[in-house]
Amino acid sequence: MAVPVSQMWTVSSYVLRQKLAGRKQYPLVLMLEPLFRCNLACAGCGKIQYPAHILKKNLSPEECFRAVDECGAPMVSIPGGEPLMHPQIAEIVEGLVARKKYIYLCTNALLLKEKLDQFQPSKYLTFSVHLDGNREEHDLAVCREGGYDIAVDAIKEALHRGFRVTTNTTLFDGADPKSVRQFFDEMMELGLEGMMLSPGYSYDKAPDQKHFLGRARTRRMFRAILSNRNRNWRFNLSPLFLEFLMGRRTFPCTPWGMPTYNIFGWQKPCYLLQDGYAETFAELMGTTAWQNYGTESGNPACANCMVHSGYEASAVNATFSSLSGFLATVKATLSTRYEDPDALRLLDEPITPVNPLVQINSAADPSTKLQETQV
Ligand code: SF4
Repeated sequence: MAVPVSQMWTVSSYVLRQKLAGRKQYPLVLMLEPLFRCNLACAGCGKIQYPAHILKKNLSPEECFRAVDECGAPMVSIPGGEPLMHPQIAEIVEGLVARKKYIYLCTNALLLKEKLDQFQPSKYLTFSVHLDGNREEHDLAVCREGGYDIAVDAIKEALHRGFRVTTNTTLFDGADPKSVRQFFDEMMELGLEGMMLSPGYSYDKAPDQKHFLGRARTRRMFRAILSNRNRNWRFNLSPLFLEFLMGRRTFPCTPWGMPTYNIFGWQKPCYLLQDGYAETFAELMGTTAWQNYGTESGNPACANCMVHSGYEASAVNATFSSLSGFLATVKATLSTRYEDPDALRLLDEPITPVNPLVQINSAADPSTKLQETQV
């Protein structure tokens, strides 16, 4: 099982309490960005292009704790920037563990091995190591030769010392589904708890604007990757979110499900967009024009978005919103194979260049369920 029972119980009981209280908008994971500095400069990153005086800033542990307490979400993801470059990251983690928050510390792992002594293994702490594919693909994605080997070495050491470790993988256009599947096999052989993945988002600040995925291409790629799964693959994600990526379900975005706090304050409306900031979590929830976001809103900034930070909370909410949602989650948890001969054929297709409108020729095979004519 990818997620420990105690974490599943904490999250399930939290969501049920929100439902019983009649709350429609509630946070599930706080995205806590304690700094934007990083020791990599990835082509698809929208966080490290700030001017130097911003990159120098850190959230203090007290600011982090105040945000966590205000928000009340049971899980805290710590992205960045590179959190291990924060001079007080161990103190921040210790304070969150004391609050019994399930923490995903997202790291490129370049500093992980040397910093491990600062942390204690805990069921509340997971190192979520950024790896965007096998050695060649990851080093290309992060623009750093040798990055993959350093990260894998650090993963092995962290596992050896008893830490919880997952990977987190962002897939961009041009990713080879066959190669991604081999990468999953390699990661599972390391003994990881599970894998997380998301399509990339087209940040307007990112240096590489060519390799982001439209919705149709996203569904097609994830259908090829996630159908006909190897039995030992474990994902640290809602199974319904994986079905969403494969094009088997649709969800509206729930940007309040993973609110973001960083050196500017509470970011409106989500981890990806910056339409202003609120000083408090209550102000964020009360003053954001949520109806202006999500694919259905017609907002062009949301048109192609299927990212984890917008839609995994939607998938978790769907699990607890109806008996059919709950049963679908149970089924997806127990039956993970997703046999799909058409998807097997997709694995043999050449990787095609970016095209804003993609249409699969379903007339050739009426059994196909894909309707990928829209982005
Ligand atoms: S669709 Fe994506 S970009 Fe738009 S609000 Fe949701 S998460 Fe943010």
